[in-house]
This record gives sequence, structure tokens and C-alpha cells, in this order.
Amino acid sequence: MLSAQQHTRALLDYIDASPSPWHAVQTTVNTLLQANFSELHEGDAWALAPNGRYYVIRDDSSIIAFTVGNDLTENGFRLIGAHTDSPGLRVKPKPNSKVGDFNRVGVEVYGGPILATFTDRDLSLAGRVYVQKDAQLSSHLVHFNKPFLRLPNLAIHMNSKVNTDGLKLNKQTELPLLLSVANDQLSSQPNMVELLAKELDVNTADIAAWELQSCDTQAGAIYGVNDEFYANSQLDNLASCHASLSALVSRPSLNAQQFNVCAFFDHEEIGSNSHKGADGCFLSDVLERVAYSLKVSSEDYKRALSNSFLISADMAHAYHPNFPDAYEPEHKVLVNQGPVIKVNANIRYASNSASQARFIQLCTQADVPYQQYSHRTDIGCGSTIGPMTSAKLGINTVDVGCPMWAMHSIRESAGVLDHQYITRVFTQFFA
Ligand SMILES: [Zn+2]
Repeated sequence: MLSAQQHTRALLDYIDASPSPWHAVQTTVNTLLQANFSELHEGDAWALAPNGRYYVIRDDSSIIAFTVGNDLTENGFRLIGAHTDSPGLRVKPKPNSKVGDFNRVGVEVYGGPILATFTDRDLSLAGRVYVQKDAQLSSHLVHFNKPFLRLPNLAIHMNSKVNTDGLKLNKQTELPLLLSVANDQLSSQPNMVELLAKELDVNTADIAAWELQSCDTQAGAIYGVNDEFYANSQLDNLASCHASLSALVSRPSLNAQQFNVCAFFDHEEIGSNSHKGADGCFLSDVLERVAYSLKVSSEDYKRALSNSFLISADMAHAYHPNFPDAYEPEHKVLVNQGPVIKVNANIRYASNSASQARFIQLCTQADVPYQQYSHRTDIGCGSTIGPMTSAKLGINTVDVGCPMWAMHSIRESAGVLDHQYITRVFTQFFA
């Protein structure tokens, strides 16, 4: 078993290789291939081999990986769900936003980022680009591996109340990212589309469409006096993807002869309502087709669902001692004190007493501490893919995750021990 620091280092490498949801799926596939998983295409007929290991990708940024076990009807599926997307800035279809002497890149806000954290960072772009060339369409992952975009703060001399009123940015006029000075002595600096064409070695006219997001170029880091914390972008929710993926490809899971499933969805940060989001049909389509391929009747498929269990894995809000009033005083969850079970009476989280008890039992079996979280009653609570996935499939579900600071900042941080703890619980679940 890797040390907690080594396991966290593997997580940071996973995130650094995954600057967009499309890259996250590719990075996930690389791990699955090493564990002898093979790809199934939704457009093909499926013939599943006994004890087979497979994955299915929908539209490049959602992925479901599973193992074929024994007696689906009786055993059901053991599922862990997470999401591949993170909030940030997405490039508009016509991105060249020239104002005065500057080439800028026009962006739209995706989900709910803490916008102030995107200022003064060494930003780049990553995502998926479609090229149309010689009557052929092709899709490409793009990751500019150097900083070339920036959102500089206004100096405090022109924004003297920034420390008392906070940083306020107009999303239309004050968010475009600075790319270059136009018409300087270097003359005719390339605009963003020209940079993209150069990166892909095609003509600008060949570029048909894209989904690109700003990404941080700073690599992940382990920090703290005793190397007990870590920081990177996208901990929410690539940390949960990495923990469950590590569990899925671990020896106990691969030897377990169970139907273990990892489902990583795009679009959680914007409500999950898409053809590849958790509120869509991707997961139910895949589970149904697993059953059909194994000649399980529709009644037995429903029996299998009722014997299934879903862990919805997403990050939790660690207690921040500088802001004690932000937290429910009896439900402070601390970094490096174990996975968090999230509970909300209005089912913003899917947990109930039965599913909580099952997760607690897993923690006990894995010898891992756990914590319980309830949001302050007087402020709105976030949600996860848990409630909608549970409702769609009728599978009992628990919402859990590791405690972290600064959710939706471009530089989030969390505890090294927690990443190992939750991986051990997930491994116990799949074993
Ligand atoms: Zn999340």
C-alpha cells in the first residue's frame, strides 16, 4: 500500500494531467487500460465476458467503468458516482475580443467559481476541439502547456475598497482574459483561434467548434509542516474520481467477482441535466445493457437495482477556523479526520439512516474514522449527483466526500490522510 503522501502525489499527477473534463476521462482511461479494462461503444452490440472489465464513454467527458461479477440479480451493482467537471471560465464561440490595444479572450462563467481566485494566476486553456478537414470531422484534446492568459487585478490605488467590500467583477466586461498587446513592435500577435490552429497544425478555417476552459498552470503541491495537506485546482471533484478509480483497479476489487461500477459524469456543476450528465440516461442505459447482455430478465434487472447501493462521492466543506460562524457548530468536519457523511433533511444530499449506517459499517471494516456534516440551517445547502441518481434508479444512496477548503477556488486544498482514508473505504466497498 502506498503511503498517504505517495497516494496523494498520484492524485496530484492525475489532476495535473486532467485540466478539463475531457482530459479527466482520458486520464481515467489510461489507468483503466493498465488494469486490463477494455472499451465498449454505445453504438455496438455488447457481449460481456465472464469476469470482464469494461468502460463506456459518452461524448468524451463522462465515463462509466465496471467489472462483470456473479449473479447480478442477487448481488446488484456496487456503484460510486462522481463528476469530472469543475467550475471556471469557458471560451466563447467567437473569442477574439479586441479592445483598444489588447487582444482578449471572451469567456463565459461555467458553474459557480470563486471568480476572485482566477485573478493574477498563470492561466492557460484546455479542452476539446473539433476540426473539419478534407470532409472529415475529428475531435482533439488540446492543452496549452504554458501560461499565456491573465486576469490582472486592478491596483488597489484604483480599487481602494477591495479589502473591505471584496472583489466584484462584471462578468461581461471585466472577465475577458488578456492575451496580448495588439500592434506592438512584434506586430500582428496571433489571436486565440490562430494559436489553436497552430497548436493543432491546421488552418484556422479548419477549426469547426470547441469547448475550452481556462486552467491553472501551477502544478499540485503537498504542503504543511508535516506534509499533511495538498493543494491543486479541481479537487472538487477529481479527488473523488481518483479515490474511487484507485479502489476499482485495486487487487481486492478486481478479485471480488462483483459488479463494481465507477460512474464519472460531466455537467454536475451546472445541474447535470444533459445527455451525459447524472440527471440524464447514461447510467441507466449502461446498467440496463449490462443486464440485457447477461440475459437478465427485466424483472430480475429491477431486483438487481433493489439489491444495489450507490456511494455519491463529492467533496465536503472542511471547518475553517477563521470563519466559525459559517458552520453548524455541532457538525464541524475537520481536515485529516476522515471521510464525511453528508446529511440534509430536504434531500439535497441523498443520505438516509439506512445508507449512512451502511457507510459507517464500511468505515468500521476498513478501520477508518468518519465524520457527519449538516449545513447551517439558515443558509442554503449545495447538492450533488446523489439525490437525482438515486431517484432515477431507485438505488439507496449515501452522500460522502473528503473535507476540503475553498471549494470552487482555482486553488483548493485538503488533507493527505483523508484521501487515503476514503480510498480504503471505497476499496472495502468494492472488495
Ligand atoms: Zn462537486
